[in-house]
Amino acid sequence: MAGRDEIELIRERADMLEIVSRYVTLKRAGKNYIGSCPFHQDKTPSFTVTPDKKLFHCFGCNEGGDLFQFLMKIERIDFSEAVVRLAAQVGVPIRRERASPLSKFKELNERVCGYFQINLVSPAGQQARAYLKRRGFTKEIIEKFRLGYALPKWDDLIKTFPKDGETLETLGLALRGKEGTLYDRFRERLIFPIWSPAGDIIGFAGRALGDEEPKYLNISNTPLFEKGSVLYGLNFARQAARAIGTLILVEGYTDVIGAHQAGIENIVAGMGTALTAAQAQVLKRYVSRVVLAYDRDVAGRNATVRGMANLRNADLEVFVALLPPEQDPDSFVRTQGRDAFIQITESALPFHEFYLQSVLEDHHAATLAGKEQILRNVKEFLPTLVSAAVRHEIIRELGRVLNLPEEEVARAVKAGKRAGIMTPPSAEKPAWGTEEQVLYFVLQGELSLDRLRDELDVQDFTRYPEIARSLWELGEEWTVDGLLAKLSAEDQVTVRRLVLMQPPLKESDRQRALAEAPRRLRQVRIEEQIARLREEVRAAERAGDREKVWRLQGELVQQQQQLLQGGRR
Ligand SMILES: [Zn+2]
Repeated sequence: MAGRDEIELIRERADMLEIVSRYVTLKRAGKNYIGSCPFHQDKTPSFTVTPDKKLFHCFGCNEGGDLFQFLMKIERIDFSEAVVRLAAQVGVPIRRERASPLSKFKELNERVCGYFQINLVSPAGQQARAYLKRRGFTKEIIEKFRLGYALPKWDDLIKTFPKDGETLETLGLALRGKEGTLYDRFRERLIFPIWSPAGDIIGFAGRALGDEEPKYLNISNTPLFEKGSVLYGLNFARQAARAIGTLILVEGYTDVIGAHQAGIENIVAGMGTALTAAQAQVLKRYVSRVVLAYDRDVAGRNATVRGMANLRNADLEVFVALLPPEQDPDSFVRTQGRDAFIQITESALPFHEFYLQSVLEDHHAATLAGKEQILRNVKEFLPTLVSAAVRHEIIRELGRVLNLPEEEVARAVKAGKRAGIMTPPSAEKPAWGTEEQVLYFVLQGELSLDRLRDELDVQDFTRYPEIARSLWELGEEWTVDGLLAKLSAEDQVTVRRLVLMQPPLKESDRQRALAEAPRRLRQVRIEEQIARLREEVRAAERAGDREKVWRLQGELVQQQQQLLQGGRR
């Protein structure tokens, strides 16, 4: 794997525009280039590339990063693979013998998985084996899914892999106690390895064999494992899914395993939480249609419906198959067989019909109060759906079942100003307040860090404290890459946005904004401080604390004077 110098050299030599253009048609817009985003269904060209800073960002879905990240996402490869490919293209020789940290992690996961598998077939694994037998899993399927067992000890993994303690911690397999010693995360649990779509083990889940809570324990997010974008079993389902064009989504790991045993391969499970937009994007790479096969309890939950909306918003066709009461997919396949299960998934309801049916089941559509509740529920839910066609379909159908004119339903569920609590992400306008303006001019290189530090403190940045702190830490030598490397994913999105955005400013206003933005930010903060002090003065007056009132009044006068001096310190 390449070292830091080699990676820098690749970054310097590679022509970002040329490489991205192989996948996206780009048009020039000022110093940037724009095109239709390859990572989401893009209606307006939101995908932006800045060749001089070698960054891309999508203003629609917030995907973004450098050239390596672009290749990783579009080619679905890991970092080391992206480096190798780019190195070959730009002619940078790299030393391949040094293992990348990621491949080191995968290799340890592989060894740990093998160790758990040995435990399962050892005498200690008796109870776990008995559980699998009760579920009717064959030896072949247990081996295919590489199920294992964690011994009922606190330090078994730690002692079995004595040289890898810290890596076990990084991989979520060990936790650090108060005294700083490591202990095993999984104890006395049936172990399910979790794979990447490419078939690398990226994490583990453990199922309790007794009544311990939680029943299923996942590792936390690690460099390999990001819960919100993982789908269990996708490595086994990929081929069948592409061939059939449909993926079946179930709740549990054992549902996936049971289905495979019965010969159903196009099936995956979420990670025990509502399906996310990130998972929807992953699914979209393989199929255009998903069928959710859930038991009734799970399907009716708000979180589940929200997950379905996420899938629908990614432009997937979404169908919901309801299992008979008291059945989960695994028990259903076992008792009724493969064909009966496939039949259920084939007669699944389109998402909007399922949604309406479940709302109608929850309330009495025959009563006026029931009708009102249904309308309220729909009114809250509709704004989460991006597709106007689906929204309209729900309104039309609702009019029919409630026996109300369509226009009346439409009026009743029409979102007021802030009616929808969950507005779809595409409706979010990027913020352009004073704090954003200041950071924008810094990131564009128009406002020097010297001047910024003269006029403002880190504390003045209340929306983006981490970005400000990192800039202060990096000092005059800061670069966009260096800054991005220090930030959380969320702050990275903000920085990329500000680097690549076209500000809502006329060119003639730009110079004035640049001159005034830092001082205005300071003034905003002073005004907030004054409002806070006034509030405290009133509270102290009510409490009769005269001394405190005097002290606060003094502070208030100081702040007001500062404001009069135009925020100068
Ligand atoms: Zn996008």
